[in-house]
Amino acid sequence: MSSLQAQLDLACESIQHEIGIGKVADYIPALARVPADKFGAAIVTVGGEKASFGDASESFSIQSISKVFAITAALNRYEHRIWDRVGHEPSGNAFNSIVQLEKENGIPRNPFINAGALVVTDALLKDQSITECSDQMLGLVQQLADDHTITVDNEVAQSERSTSDRNAGLAHFMRSFGRIESDISDVLDVYCRQCAIAMSCEQLARSTLYLANGGTDPIAEIPIVEEERARRINAMMMLCGHYDASGDFAHRVGLPGKSGVGGGIVVVVPDVAAVAVWSPRLNANGNSHAGTAALEALVRITKWNVL
Ligand code: GLN
Repeated sequence: MSSLQAQLDLACESIQHEIGIGKVADYIPALARVPADKFGAAIVTVGGEKASFGDASESFSIQSISKVFAITAALNRYEHRIWDRVGHEPSGNAFNSIVQLEKENGIPRNPFINAGALVVTDALLKDQSITECSDQMLGLVQQLADDHTITVDNEVAQSERSTSDRNAGLAHFMRSFGRIESDISDVLDVYCRQCAIAMSCEQLARSTLYLANGGTDPIAEIPIVEEERARRINAMMMLCGHYDASGDFAHRVGLPGKSGVGGGIVVVVPDVAAVAVWSPRLNANGNSHAGTAALEALVRITKWNVL
């Protein structure tokens, strides 16, 4: 078996022709300014071995990948009670869809679609100010990545906040069912700041390693979330991490993963490693085109697959 670095190189080199395919997210104006042809990938194993490729140390907007950290924080604060407010079923709809909410009494299908993430943010905001809540999320990410230099990209946060009609609509609709308690403007402020956290593939892979190790950071040896809850987060990532393309991602990659419209994807290889890829051009479902291709190539080479 060749080295971890050789396997990552082989996988990434085999898909370089895919980098020009797809379209950068432009509904958040600041994201449209990101160079479209960037590509990075990083692996960190539970034993601490690392491998990187391309733009792996360059920061990008983690966007919906932050929903993994938010549900981690919510599970730690509310335990299983958070599942009374947000479901754990795939939605089969776009990440920002409103269609199921009316029939389902304003309870979002899962924490990884925008409606679900807004409910999670609302829960985290309870008894806290916007600043306290945002700082807590950033602090968690810094701890997980073991890197206190990670920050929020304020330009991206403001850009999304000033164009957040769709998310505001979801929040107002859910409040009409009594599902949102905080001020909607505060929920949107915190949500946009969380999505605008900027991280590199290397930092992202490191920060999700606890999910490959039963909820405990294997390098710092710090328990992050209970084992059973880590398993449930992984189940959510497997079933809902790529919205209405979650089935396709499972079919091609076969690992729990979470994407963001910044072009990042993290995947968890239970008991083995966490992997992050970044390539800003997205497919029609809002998931990184070349990033998905790279992960598909990597699992073919490594045989990392839970299925
Ligand atoms: N901040 C983005 C939004 O709410 C996140 C979406 C995503 O990454 N899929 O639209």
